[in-house]
Amino acid sequence: MKSHVAMSACPICRKETGVLMSTKIMNGKLDEPFDQRVYIDPTAVCKECEETYLSVGIMLIDPDTVALSVIKEEAFKRIFTIPVPSERIAFMKESDMRAMGLIKEET
Ligand SMILES: [Zn+2]
Repeated sequence: MKSHVAMSACPICRKETGVLMSTKIMNGKLDEPFDQRVYIDPTAVCKECEETYLSVGIMLIDPDTVALSVIKEEAFKRIFTIPVPSERIAFMKESDMRAMGLIKEET
């Protein structure tokens, strides 16, 4: 069933974060409705995961595939030349993460 509202979910544990998302009005018409009830929001990490993972690491996430990897701050500084993002979330292509061995290939 299509709906104009959906719940956002944490990209790490996939639990609902309680944040409601809604479609926007574009050119006088409502955007495409959601066809899922729950959507993963790559930037909305839940409190629990924030404390567990983001307090010690930086989350790299591909916003298109929601593939993600959490790496230690030291590792982030070693790999990237950019400063550690204040929100501790950085976007990166899944293919790049795989190429760098940050995501384990499923066997
Ligand atoms: Zn979570």
